[in-house]
Amino acid sequence: MTSSRADGIAARRQELVAALEEVERELAELRSMRERQHDDDEHDPDGVSLSSEWSRLEGLRQTEVAALAAIDAAAARLSAGDDGICAVCGGPIAPERLEARPDATTCISCAR
Ligand SMILES: [Zn+2]
Repeated sequence: MTSSRADGIAARRQELVAALEEVERELAELRSMRERQHDDDEHDPDGVSLSSEWSRLEGLRQTEVAALAAIDAAAARLSAGDDGICAVCGGPIAPERLEARPDATTCISCAR
């Protein structure tokens, strides 16, 4: 049980790291696209869509960063031995919930 839980956390973490790298790559591309456009034309017609794409990616990046922090916290709790304990009521978190959401910090009742 404990080792499969650790595997679940590690797998989820890997997904998040990959997703975060992807977002950062897209942000870097967008940044260089913006810089090129400024060189070419001050009145670039794509300016608006570029900045809305920028906010979308930036929001996505923050979501990934937060999820990564949550999974790291779950890994820390696991190694500290207080894994599966609800952060709100101190009760146990159902194993099925932890399987579905490895980074869950609250039990089902407290998450509602
Ligand atoms: Zn709870």
